[in-house]
Amino acid sequence: MIRPTRRSDTAVIAGPNPAGRTPLSTRLLSPTPSGHCYVPPGTVRYVPLYKPLIFQWAMHDERVVRLLNDYRLLVNKAVRYGLQSGVTSKFALCKHLYAQFRCESDMYSKHVVSTFEVAASILKNYRHRARRGLRTKPPFVKRLFLKTENQAFRLDRKAGILRFPLRSREYVWIQLPVNPYHKGMLEDPGLSLGSLTLMPDRIIIAFRKEAPIPFQPEGLLALDTNESSLDGVHARAGKTEYVRARFPEVRHIQSLYFRRRRKLAKKKPHDARIRRRLLHTEGSRERRRVKQRLHILSKGIVAEAAKQRCVLVLEELSIPKLRGRSRRMNRRLSVWPQAELHRQIEYKARWIGVPVLKIDPRNTSRRCPACGWCDKSRMRVASVKGVFTCPCGWRLDRQLNAGVNILQTALASNEALARAVRFQPGALRHDVVIPLCAPKSGAREEPNEGSLAEGKTEPSPTERILAAVPE
Ligand SMILES: [Zn+2]
Repeated sequence: MIRPTRRSDTAVIAGPNPAGRTPLSTRLLSPTPSGHCYVPPGTVRYVPLYKPLIFQWAMHDERVVRLLNDYRLLVNKAVRYGLQSGVTSKFALCKHLYAQFRCESDMYSKHVVSTFEVAASILKNYRHRARRGLRTKPPFVKRLFLKTENQAFRLDRKAGILRFPLRSREYVWIQLPVNPYHKGMLEDPGLSLGSLTLMPDRIIIAFRKEAPIPFQPEGLLALDTNESSLDGVHARAGKTEYVRARFPEVRHIQSLYFRRRRKLAKKKPHDARIRRRLLHTEGSRERRRVKQRLHILSKGIVAEAAKQRCVLVLEELSIPKLRGRSRRMNRRLSVWPQAELHRQIEYKARWIGVPVLKIDPRNTSRRCPACGWCDKSRMRVASVKGVFTCPCGWRLDRQLNAGVNILQTALASNEALARAVRFQPGALRHDVVIPLCAPKSGAREEPNEGSLAEGKTEPSPTERILAAVPE
């Protein structure tokens, strides 16, 4: 059995990374006598993948409220005990505290055991922060929640009814609000139940499945990640084309919310508490809207790669240097959701078995794919007005050029792929760019700048907070 070195290596086929180390999983790429093979046949892989399903819920039952309060109390007791006695593992906590907790509380026994797990992970986080010298207070759980393993509850997956134990032989039945997305997951027999987290406003159930073995790719989809588009090349035997997936709304939303927040901060300059609440509301709305756009985009890209049976090639992330740029540019770079986009693409690809290759991004924006010349000048003389121009005569859109370089790096790092796909940049000298995935209809329109001032039927959360504050 091949053991993955990191979690992200599981179904991801990784190339040499920038640190110069070759991850273990590149061994998966070595060709076998029978031809090129990505995963050696007979390799035992049991890598579970998780996906949470979130159900909206309102906690009305008094007994559940009491249970959650009791649970929080026990977690905090266990944390305090851990801090005082230096006990850190969940087993040790369980050994020392289980009998006592069972006497004090009539809670269902598996919930008691799960308090130790939660407490242990809180203690672990605390120790890590303390060790790194970060400012930290002794931990204390304020929020109400309860986490429990799949042995504790029953879920009728057809009817969407959850049976949840409160005490020994005392249950609550909860009808989950099941939408079509939930229904698809609930009825999928390949998904098994994981843990459940009960919160006052929602119920989160984790579903687990074995990672599918990535398919044998017939081509590559090499994409360079830019501020508002993914650009690159789709290459397969006998066919190469430029592709581009645009997401201009993300930057639009970010700049819109930045301006809105700045305006709000000015409105309440003397009340830090109100200002913080307002900014928090605006910030979380922004994050939700950005994330939703990225989800549509990443889903489309992974679906396209699966349809074309392509390996997805992305660059290994590097943090852009925040020096020598304007404040404005630094702000834009710092909120750039590149990592989130890559994370979504990778987990969606893993979920359906699309292979992903991460390559070293060094020089991808400076190199000429036709002759190999590298623009080493600090001012990047080769890229003028978004066009990369090489002394050899090669001219191409700067972002597409980076995509071509990513493709070449991927082919150079991987014999099997290079044999399957012969790529010559010379064959690519045309200007047609295929839109990679066009979301049918995006989310609803963004509220415009004036929506804070103009009268609307429904007040926004921000307006509600503002209205509650006396002038
Ligand atoms: Zn050149």
